[in-house]
Amino acid sequence: MREANRIVSKILDELGEAVKPGVPTMLFEDICRKRCDEFGVRPAFLGYQGFPYALCCSVNEEIVHGFPSKERILKEGDIVSFDMGVVYDGFYGDSARTFGVGKVSHEAQKLMDVTRESLYIGIEQAVPGNNLYDVSAAIQSYVEGFGFGIVRRFVGHGIGSHLHEKPEIPNFVPKGMAGVPLKAGMVLAIEPMVTLGSYEVEMLGDRWTAVTKDRKLSAHFEHTVAVTHEGPRILSLSE
Ligand code: MG
Ligand code: MG
Repeated sequence: MREANRIVSKILDELGEAVKPGVPTMLFEDICRKRCDEFGVRPAFLGYQGFPYALCCSVNEEIVHGFPSKERILKEGDIVSFDMGVVYDGFYGDSARTFGVGKVSHEAQKLMDVTRESLYIGIEQAVPGNNLYDVSAAIQSYVEGFGFGIVRRFVGHGIGSHLHEKPEIPNFVPKGMAGVPLKAGMVLAIEPMVTLGSYEVEMLGDRWTAVTKDRKLSAHFEHTVAVTHEGPRILSLSE
C-alpha cells in the first residue's frame, strides 16, 4: 500500500506543478493517465461505479467528484482539488489535495490551510486504543473553530484490497453513534472536505459533481494512513 500511495503522491506532486492560469482541467486527466501507464498501475477511479475519468478534478465551489474538462480553463484566483487513486499489485492508494491557481484570495488560502491542517490533526488521533470518532472529533472541532463548514455527505473510509472498505470515517461526530476502536493494522483514508459557508451539498446534472449549495468555495485534503503501534504512518506522503 505504501507503493500504491507513493505513486499517487508523486502524481499529485506533478499535477500541482502543472497548475497555472490558462490551462484546461483536462490537462490534469491527461497527465494522470500518462503517469499511471508509465508506473504500470491502474487508475482506481476510472470506471468505479461508472465514474468516467481517472482523476476527480473539482474547481472552486465543486467539492468532490468533478469531471476534468477541455472547456474548463483555470483562471487566476481559482482553487482546484485533485483526488486520485491507483491500484498497485492488488492494493489501493487514495489521496487528495487542493491547490491555488496563481494568486488566490486571503480567505481561499485560509480555507486550504485549515483543511490541510485539519487532516493532520485528525491523523494524530489515528492510534491504537483510540476510537475512530476521536479522529472525527479532532477534525470537526478544528474546522468549526474557524467558522468553516465540514461536509457531512461525503466521508473517509477504510482502504486496502478495495478502494472503499469499512469503516466509514466521518469528519464530524455522528449523534448517537459509537465509533469503532482503532487497532494496529487498520488503514484509513481520512479526507476532510471543508467549505467557506454552509456544509450543504447539491449534486449537478452530471450526477457526479458535488457542489456547495451556497456556491461558496470548498477544499479537500486526503491521506491514506496506517494505524501502527509506532503511531500513524502516512502512506501517501510525498518523498
Ligand atoms: Mg480520494
Ligand atoms: Mg478516499
